Amino acid sequence: MVQIDGLTFAYPDGQQALRGVTLRIAPGEKVALVGPNGAGKSTLMLHLNGILGGATSPVRVCDRSLSKEQLPLIRGMVGLVFQNPDDQLFSPTVLEDVAFGPLHQGLPEAEVRRRAQWALEQVGLGGFESRLSHHLSLGQKKRVAIATVLSMRPEILVLDEPTAGLDPRGRRQFIGLLRDLPQTMLVSTHDMWLVAELFPRMVIMDEGRVVADGATADLLADRALLEAHGLESPAAYYA
Ligand code: ADP
Repeated sequence: MVQIDGLTFAYPDGQQALRGVTLRIAPGEKVALVGPNGAGKSTLMLHLNGILGGATSPVRVCDRSLSKEQLPLIRGMVGLVFQNPDDQLFSPTVLEDVAFGPLHQGLPEAEVRRRAQWALEQVGLGGFESRLSHHLSLGQKKRVAIATVLSMRPEILVLDEPTAGLDPRGRRQFIGLLRDLPQTMLVSTHDMWLVAELFPRMVIMDEGRVVADGATADLLADRALLEAHGLESPAAYYA
C-alpha cells in the first residue's frame, strides 16, 4: 500500500527533517507512528499525498509514484487528516466541508450528497449536515475532518495526533471510531495507551530517522529503547 525508500527532506530554510526514511505498509495494516516532537512524523505524513516531495519523491502509494499526473488520484487514495481540524474545515456548513472532496473529483451531485451523508454516518454525525463547522466541539470537528476524507473513499487513512486535545470521553469515542474503520492506517500519536490498544505495529522515529519498527507489544516492553527516544510505556503509569 505504501512504499518509501530512503526519503530525505529538508525545508527551504535548511532544516533537515527526514534523513533516509524507509517504510512499507501492507494493505489492512494499522501502524502507529511515535517519537518526540520534531522527529519528522508530520513531515513524513505530508509526503504521503504529495503535499511535500513532488515528482522525484521516493514514495509510492498503491504502486504509483507521486508524479503530477498521479497526484489527483493519490490525493483520493490517501486520506490525510491534520492535527488541528481548523486546518481542514473551511466551509460554512458540515455538508459543504464533507462534500468538497467528491465534488472536486467531478462526481455527480446526487453521488456527492450520498457519499457525504455516508461519511458523516461513519463518524457518528448523521444529521449534522446543516450544522456550522466552526460552532462544533473539538471532538465533533475532528470527526468531521475524518468524514471530509472518508467521503473520497480513501484506501489509507493518515492521521496526525487524532486524540490530542480531546477530553477523556471524546477520546474514548474517538478510539471507538478508529477501531471500527476498516482502512489501512498510519497514525502519529503521543498517546501510548492508544498505541497499545489499537495498533499491532509501531514505528518509532527520532531526528528524522526510523529507529525502530516492529510489533507494538515487543517495542513497548523494551524500556531502554523507549527511554532513549523520550517515550513511555503505558505500563510505566502504574510503576
Ligand atoms: P514531528 O511531527 O515529529 O513533531 P515535524 O515533522 O513537525 O516533527 O518536524 C521535523 C523537523 O522539521 C523539526 O526540526 C521541525 O522544526 C522542522 N519543521 C517542521 N515544519 C517546518 C517548516 N514548515 N519549516 C521549517 N522547518 C520545519
